[in-house]
Parts: sequence; structure tokens; C-alpha cells
Amino acid sequence: MTDGARTATRRGFRPVEAATHCPYCALQCGMVLRATGDGVEVAARDFPTNRGGLCQKGWTAADLLDHPDRLTTPLLRDRPGGELRPATWDEALGRVAAGVQDVQHRHGPDAVAVFGGGGLTNEKAYALGRFARVTLRTRHIDYNGRWCMSSAAAAGNRAFGIDRGLPFPLADLGRADTLLLVGANPAETMPPLMRHVADLRERGGRLIVADPRATATARQADLHLQPMPGTDLAVANALLHIALTEGWLDRAYVAERTTGFDEVRRTVAGYWPAEVERLSGVPVADLYATARALATVDRAVVLTARGAEQHAKGVDTVTAFINLALALGLPGRPGSGYGCLTGQGNGQGGREHGQKADQLPGYRRIDDPAAREHVAGVWGVDPDTLPGPGVPAYQLLDALGTPSGARALLVFGSNPVVSAPRAARVESRLRALDLLVVADFVRSETAELADVVLPVAQWAEEDGTMTNLEGRVLRRRALREPPAGVRTELEILAALAGRLTGGTPLPTDPREVFAELGRASSGGPADYAGITWDRIDADTGVFWPCPDRDGPDTPRLFADRFPTPDGRARFHAVTHRPAAEPVCADYPLHFTTGRVLAQYQSGAQTRRVAALRRAAPGGFVELHPDLAARIGVTEGAPVRVVSRRGELRAPARLSTAIRPDTVFAPFHWPGAQRANSVTNDALDPVSGMPEFKICAVRVEPA
Ligand code: SF4
Repeated sequence: MTDGARTATRRGFRPVEAATHCPYCALQCGMVLRATGDGVEVAARDFPTNRGGLCQKGWTAADLLDHPDRLTTPLLRDRPGGELRPATWDEALGRVAAGVQDVQHRHGPDAVAVFGGGGLTNEKAYALGRFARVTLRTRHIDYNGRWCMSSAAAAGNRAFGIDRGLPFPLADLGRADTLLLVGANPAETMPPLMRHVADLRERGGRLIVADPRATATARQADLHLQPMPGTDLAVANALLHIALTEGWLDRAYVAERTTGFDEVRRTVAGYWPAEVERLSGVPVADLYATARALATVDRAVVLTARGAEQHAKGVDTVTAFINLALALGLPGRPGSGYGCLTGQGNGQGGREHGQKADQLPGYRRIDDPAAREHVAGVWGVDPDTLPGPGVPAYQLLDALGTPSGARALLVFGSNPVVSAPRAARVESRLRALDLLVVADFVRSETAELADVVLPVAQWAEEDGTMTNLEGRVLRRRALREPPAGVRTELEILAALAGRLTGGTPLPTDPREVFAELGRASSGGPADYAGITWDRIDADTGVFWPCPDRDGPDTPRLFADRFPTPDGRARFHAVTHRPAAEPVCADYPLHFTTGRVLAQYQSGAQTRRVAALRRAAPGGFVELHPDLAARIGVTEGAPVRVVSRRGELRAPARLSTAIRPDTVFAPFHWPGAQRANSVTNDALDPVSGMPEFKICAVRVEPA
């Protein structure tokens, strides 16, 4: 079956199978869905990212389609503290429209905010941004991708002039001689990616992993650097220091293709390997081995992920690794480069088309007059009516219900009660709202707080596009109709726009929305103007930028120039600084968070899948046996992890895979096991990324 065969192109047509992609992470593994007599069957499909592989999450994704928890009717809460009750769509949409109008009448347009998600299709993310700016006229829109990729995005923009997670196809990993993964654990978060790493290993290439934990990925590495959390930046500067002193730089590349190296040279001169060993715990010999492995081979790739990025200095940490890659002449060279491993399913496309506070479609800036004029022209409005930039996600949520914040919030595709940092604080701000509306297909922890819950279609019931971690735009294809009583987000936005403005200005056909998105993105950094659904269907996706229908797409960036005004990449000197919350006598340990193989993000979906629940039934606290012995904790015993913001309680899991000065908990579970009750809401000053990956805690028997 070809990619384009037997897809649902209009409502009412029911294919027996659909070639689509997994609903979860940014690898967007290819899969085939088949309608069987009693449900939907998932089969793996050969696609360049997954090559026929799927992880447990993908195999079981269809279990949610007919799940007993599936919402098929809107829910309303009649009074604060009352129960949610079933309602008609007319009643629910009427309540939302009246609530929005009331709040905006009393407090102005910015008193209504919109919160999106990195799992929404490109069409939905685009429509959400347009709905916020044109229908609501609010500047307050942001999304949960702010908590995933924003630090790498900001660093990429300032160095390369563009933010595409991987500026080359994933298959390039298999052609590299050395791969350095920093704060990435794809063996657990996106296992099929390891097939590309296996290619590298079979060719004799080396895998080096930097991670405070001996993760499943680190255990496969030729060399595991185990830095103390929050010291990656210093490690990167030390690697560049070594490359400089050993004469391993690509001087011609630095001279011809970059600017700003002199200041970086002066800065890294102070990062003596012995001192960085004392700071990070990474032995000098390992620093030398890593620098040599990157600098003395033909092809090398450096990839960062959340472990390096989710810090109050995340942008500078990523910048330090980009500096290293540039100094070695890697970006733009075949089989080499720097990239970021995007996490959420549409984490890439979701950050390009307008659901970010400072952004218009096509990755344009909302404070750029030319961008405003172009996009306003596509939307048929006066550019002066478009609001200005809003604030990043955590600041938006933190201000809810206060005099300076929004009083009504519309949430699409996100569950911040579990996924936000300092989550108890965020939960209290959500409770302070005049109106909380959540569109979801299950009663997530955030939906449980809502005044109105709107049931939406699932991935197997909708057409659209996603943009994977490579910047490859691909097609989501429907197998079946949504159940009776369920609507798509596009239909909800159109209906609300109709009630709020008296017309129906938003299209509900995703193909039509995509065509409009293409026009709105035309000429922007993420230019989709030349991409059509037919063109995607005819091949294995289309890489942006693709400005012309008849022109090529762009699998590899930076071959000849960088998209900066002078065509050169820009070095930025960056320096190590301690975590926002240092350890102390009362909170003597580092706390860090992450993911497990069988759960995804806030877990609202995967915690409901029986097979995944069996594989990963609940939260845990990973700690070193030496630490456990010191505080009198045994395997499986309940422990409390306490920070200045709150605590989590979960069984202890003893492991020598973690440093004795650090404890780890996955963040997929709510309630007492909620890891984000503990995390720090210190923000990166550039990206607004919270410091999920390090704060100070104490651990004690519960
Ligand atoms: S969760 Fe990610 S790695 Fe697993 S099947 Fe889905 S897309 Fe692939």
C-alpha cells in the first residue's frame, strides 16, 4: 500500500486501513491502522524514521479509541465546587462564548488566554493562533512545547538563524563516525531511533552519551560521561578548550562560515579540563577522549535533548554545544552537524505556526511589522488589530486569576496540572479562574478542574499534517469517523468563532486550513507554501523550507550558507553558572526528572492503556544504594522527596545507574506521585524554559 492509498478524504468514507503515523512522539513512526470486526489493529510500517519498528506506546495506541474513559459528550460544571455533568454541544459552546464575552467585557481582550500543545496537528496549531489573534484579539497564547524544545529553539535561532530540530535526515546518524548524545535517552523515549545508531555502530562508529544517569542509552555507549546535573555547559566549554589547545579546530570553516569566535576562544580558555572535572565529575581523560572522537573523524554529530535544555541556563548550554560543533566545522557537512531531538509528536510543527506567544505562522515574529502585514493580509484583517507578543507558558499560567493575568483559559491538547513545573502552584492558579475550558478526549487532571470539557476526536479519526523531528512534514490519515457526540478542534474553533463574531470565518476542513497555513507561512523561515497534501502523499513527506510547488524541498540545511543576514553562523560566548537552587543542609540532594519507556508525557493517555499500565504501573524514586543505606531506605519502600515547593511520595527504586548525590523520578503520574510538585519554576531568561532538570531536595522514608 502506498502512503496515499485508502485514506479518508471526506467524512462518511470509511477505509478499511490507513497508512498513518503514531500519535505520540516526534519520531512519528509509520504505522498502518486496520479496522477489524471489534476494533482497530496497529501494524508497523516501514518509514525512514522507524524502518518498520514501533515501541510499546505505538503498538497499543489504538487501545484508547474505544476506551471506557473516552469522552463522547461535553461536560459542564454549573457552580464552583459542583460536579461535571453531561451537556449538549449547544449548551457547552453557549457557556464558553458567554463566559469569554463576559470576561472580556469586564477585563479586556487579554483577560482570555489560550494554551495549546505540541501534539496538535499543524492545522490545529495554526487555527488556534489565528483564533486567539483574530477572534479573541488576545495576546495571551502559548503552549506546552515551551517546556520541551524552547531552549534549543532559541539557541538554534541565534546561532543558525533558524530552528529546525534536526537540520538533516535522521538517517545521517548512521553515516556518522561519532555521535555525542547530551541529555538524551532515545533507547527509552523513542526506541526505533536506535536502529540508526546501530548503523553507526556496525560501521565502527562511536556512541558517546552524556547523562547523569546510566540510562538504557548510556549503557549502550562506548563512553558514558556522567556529569553532575546542571554542568553540561561547562563540559561543552571544556571540550572546546581541548579542541583549541590540541589544534583540532576547523580553522577554514570558522573563518569562512562563522562570526564571533574570538570571544568564545577567550571564554573557553578558562575552562581547564581539571577544573571542569572538579565541577562536573567527568574525568579529564574522558573529556579528552570525547573531544578527540568528535574532532579527529570525518563525520561527527552532536545532539542535545531535554537533559541539557530544561534548565534556567538551557539556551546557553545548547549554545555551548553549538559552539563546539561550529568550531569543529560540523554543521552543513554531510553526515555531520548539530541537532536537537524534539520530543512531542508535533513539537516541531507546533512551534512554527503561531501558538507561541511571540510568533505568527511560518516562524515569523509577531513584533515584525512586515510579518504582521503579510499574515493579516491572509487573514483579511487590519495588521493594527493583531495583538502584540504575550508571555511564555509558565508566566502565563502563573498569572492566571491575578490582577495582571487572564481570567479565562481555553486549553487544547495539554495537561498542565501534571506537566507544569511547580504544579501545585499552577493548579491553584487554574482554580482561581472565572472560566476554564478544556478540549480533550479523556478527563485529564486538568479537565477535572474545568468548567467546560469539550470532547475531541483522536488521531485515527482525523486527517492533517505533523512535522517530525527532522522537519519532515507528513500526513496523519483517518481510519474512521469520530464517535457520535465528538467534534474536532477545528470544528470547535469555527463554532466558537461563529458565536463570538457572528460569522464562521474559520475553515473546518484540515486540507483547506493547510492551504491557508501555506499562504500565511510563505516567505517566512518555516516556509510551507510549496507543500501540498498530494505532494506529501506522493513521497515520504516533504522537508521545509519548501517555498515553491514546483521547487525542491530541503532535507539538509546549511550546505552553502546559514539563513542569517550575512550567511554565516554566529558564535556566542557562554559561561557556566550554578543551578537556580543550589543544594544546602536542608535540601542536600539534586533532583531530576524524566521519562520511562511505557508512558508518554503527562500520562493522561498512556496511563489508561492496560498493557502500558502493567509495564509501568506507577511512579518511583530512583536513588543510589549508598544514599538509600544512609537514609534507611530499602528497595520498594515508600519515600518522600521534599523541595521548597512541595513533595512527592513513591516507592524507592535502588540503582547504581544514578549518582549518589542525585535522585530521579519520572513525571508521568499525578497526585502524590506527581514529580512536578517538587520541580523548580526558575525560568531561562531567553526561552522561558523552566528548570525541570535540577532542584534541591531531601529524601526521607515516608
Ligand atoms: S511513541 Fe515514538 S517511538 Fe514509540 S512508536 Fe510512537 S512515534 Fe515511535
